[in-house]
Amino acid sequence: MSVTLTDANERPMLPAAMHGLAGKCPACGKARLFKGFLKTVDRCDACGAPMHHHRADDLPPYLAILVVGHLLIGVMIHLDMVWHIAPMTYLMIMVPLGIVLPLALLQPLKGMVVGMQWAKRMHGFGSGRDAASPEEQ
Ligand SMILES: [Zn+2]
Repeated sequence: MSVTLTDANERPMLPAAMHGLAGKCPACGKARLFKGFLKTVDRCDACGAPMHHHRADDLPPYLAILVVGHLLIGVMIHLDMVWHIAPMTYLMIMVPLGIVLPLALLQPLKGMVVGMQWAKRMHGFGSGRDAASPEEQ
């Protein structure tokens, strides 16, 4: 008995995640994924794939804080070792960056998480007729 690693309805993870990262539908990559800053469309305008199944929850802000935290800590350590910058200068630079960068990353990271959930058929993306991708319908 042989086991196949792929099937006809396979959803590749990388293109789905990249489409989501760009704010596009993970299924077709053509229409927009968001109707607000973080509110996803219920269905894709181009292919009709349902997007209301996603459960991104707290993963996008966690990832944004993880990325920005590591970036800013590295910059702070580097600046302190090289130039000995005054504490007020740190505050004037790092606090705005600590606010703006996570907000800028939040929507792309949520799109990426939704794309990954769609590719892995998580949270209703893979069950029932409503969850089928356009190629499967
Ligand atoms: Zn679509």
